[in-house]
This record gives sequence, structure tokens and C-alpha cells, in this order.
Amino acid sequence: MLFSRLKRGSILVAILVATGATLLSGIARGAPVEHVIIISIDGLRPDAISATRMPNLQRLIQRGVHASNAQTVRPSLTIPAHVSMLTGLDSNRHKVTRETVGRGYYGQPTVHSIAKAAGLTTAMFFSKEKLDFLANPDNLDFIYGPQRHRKISVDTSANAIADAFDTAWSSNKYALTFIHLRELDGAGHWWGWMSKAYLSAATKADRAVGRILATVADSGVEEKIAVLVTADHGGHGRSHREIRPEIMTIPWVVVGPGTPAGIAIEKNIHIYDTAPTVLALLGLSAPTNLDGHVIEEVRADTKGRLSTFILMRRWPFL
Ligand SMILES: [Zn+2]
Repeated sequence: MLFSRLKRGSILVAILVATGATLLSGIARGAPVEHVIIISIDGLRPDAISATRMPNLQRLIQRGVHASNAQTVRPSLTIPAHVSMLTGLDSNRHKVTRETVGRGYYGQPTVHSIAKAAGLTTAMFFSKEKLDFLANPDNLDFIYGPQRHRKISVDTSANAIADAFDTAWSSNKYALTFIHLRELDGAGHWWGWMSKAYLSAATKADRAVGRILATVADSGVEEKIAVLVTADHGGHGRSHREIRPEIMTIPWVVVGPGTPAGIAIEKNIHIYDTAPTVLALLGLSAPTNLDGHVIEEVRADTKGRLSTFILMRRWPFL
């Protein structure tokens, strides 16, 4: 009698342990994708995303996982924030704290250098000349943008970036692509964040995102690709230098195969979580000493859905 009770008890424990282990490994084990596209919409505030204004982004939010309170770094400027996004380091670690860049390229490991070293193909499309600082040709198979050392004029509108992506993607489906769209930041500085001009720039950027997603869908790799949309900072008035929620809070949305749909992550996510998460999605390991962490929720498979659902609830904005 005692034996059978013990046995039943241990079977129950064994089942619980096994179930727990399956759920945990389900989250951690998400199979790598073959392609990741990071889209950084310069100066996009999450509260500018609405169904009528940015329908493509809204659809991504509904189809994927998004952070309800993702934060950029201090200073909340384009170059320091993008260095954090692509390295996984906080600004006090990478020490790039100014917008002005010299003649050289950023020399420490980035998602591009790590992917390239692992034998993956990489591409970068950008719309501000200073971002060329992060476009070291040694780490990239394809570059579209206003490069500092080349006297070639490049159309940097969101629509032109989408065109360039479409052309490049038709000849090579890069494993890791970074795309930067500048319009919202420009409109914010001229007319103010959340002004009519800023919101119409949001729609333009959203159309470009829609075109990029359509190119990907038409190329037949939708089942093997993850798309991450984020921003370097928000804005308030006509700037983004102060420390306030409208400036520090950024969108952070991920859609990929097996990503649970319409889920908001409540815990704090930082812009520097982007790099290790992107590397994990591609099945690559990140350097061990990063400030950023892999946001495991974005690569949950079917078995992981239950636990991710318990951890999160829907975004209050929607
Ligand atoms: Zn700016």
C-alpha cells in the first residue's frame, strides 16, 4: 500500500517535472530561422502606431510578440542607440555617446560581424550618412546608403530603401538584414513629435515596411524568417535629448515562425536586447559579456506557448 502510494506520488512528480521541462525547453529550444530582418524606424514612438496610420506595423503587433515598455539608452541619440541595438551593449560599455563619428568604422563585434564570421550573408540599408559608421564593408555583403567615403548620391527616402531592398533581395536572400528609415525623426525635428507631418511620415515608413514584408512573402521564405521592428528613440516637442517616457520608450516587435500572436511582454526590454535576441534567432551564440539578454518569448515554439501566455498580457495601447 505504502509502496503503491509512493509509486503513484513519484509518477505524479515525474509527470510534473517532465511537463515543466518540456515547457522550458520548448521556450529555449526555438529552432533557428534562416533569415532575420531588423527594421529600425528612426524616432518612432510606440503611441504613433495605430491601425489606420500604420496598418502594417499594427498587423505585425497582432501576429507577433511586442514589448510594452522597451527602453533605449542614454543619451537617446541615433548613433549611441544603434550601436547598442547592434552590439548588445549599454552605452556606458560601448562608450559611443555622441552623434558625430570620425572617419573609421565601429570596431567591436556587432550582429553583422558575428553573423559574417559564422559564414552567414549580411546586408545593411540605411538613410543617414552617420550610420555608415556601423556599415563596415568587411562585415557586410551588401550596403545601400549614403556612405561617407563614396561620392555617390543615394535616394534615402523610405520608398527608395524599399526599392533597394526589393532589388537586392531578388538576387540574394541575406541571412541578416538591417534596414533604417529616417523620415519620422526628420519630421519630428522640423514639425514636432506627434505633429501632423510626423504622423504622415509614420504612414510613409509603414508603407515601406509593408513593401519589404510583401517582397519577403513573395520570395517564399516567410516560414524561415523573423522580422524585428524597433526604433533608436522616441521624441517630445522637437527633440529627443531629455530623459522622459515619450523619448526613452521605443517599439520592439518580433514576428517569426512559431512566435505567439498578439502578445505583449511586460518585463523591461532594452534596445541592447536586440543583438543577442537576433543572434539567438539565427542560431548563433552572442559574446558572453553583453548587457542585453535573449528575449526567449519571441522564439517560443508550440510547446512554449502556454508559459509565454501566462507571463504576458495584451498591450494597453491597443
Ligand atoms: Zn533625431
